[in-house]
Amino acid sequence: MYQHILLAVDFSEHGDYVVRKARRLAGIFRAKLSIIHVLDNIPLPDTPYGAVIPLDEGSGDDLLEAEKSKLKQIGDELGVSPTHTWMVWGVPGTEIVRIARQENIDLIILGSHGRRGLALLLGSTASSVLHHAGCDVMAVRLQD
Ligand code: AMP
Repeated sequence: MYQHILLAVDFSEHGDYVVRKARRLAGIFRAKLSIIHVLDNIPLPDTPYGAVIPLDEGSGDDLLEAEKSKLKQIGDELGVSPTHTWMVWGVPGTEIVRIARQENIDLIILGSHGRRGLALLLGSTASSVLHHAGCDVMAVRLQD
């Protein structure tokens, strides 16, 4: 039913649960899996919004390298190739929807909330993706 799933990861505490759900769903549907992490907390002054950050090139920036290695680790766990692993600079909701369209994704999986939305039923990224995505969206309910 679904052929290409995009998993949005923010490295939050409950993120592992969402990763495991995505893995199982991709297995059930025999779907291709891609992963995205949007850099919204690291200032990259010379980079325009929407720029894809290459995972295989060193940047000399410790914070950025730490984010890359977390993303690579999740990619390795899920067996997702670097060509399907996206690190993009910008606003998470916007970039997740944009890459989903660009890559012909038919299901986006994310958590109902993330790092900043623990008190909310639906965080701002989840809400933005649900409103703007051109494909199905699964918001995995996360309990505090
Ligand atoms: P939020 O709406 O920000 O509370 O986050 C809800 C979900 O959106 C998280 O559980 C992640 O799956 C996804 N998400 C939030 N921020 C990012 C980000 N910077 N990059 C990728 N996915 C994100």
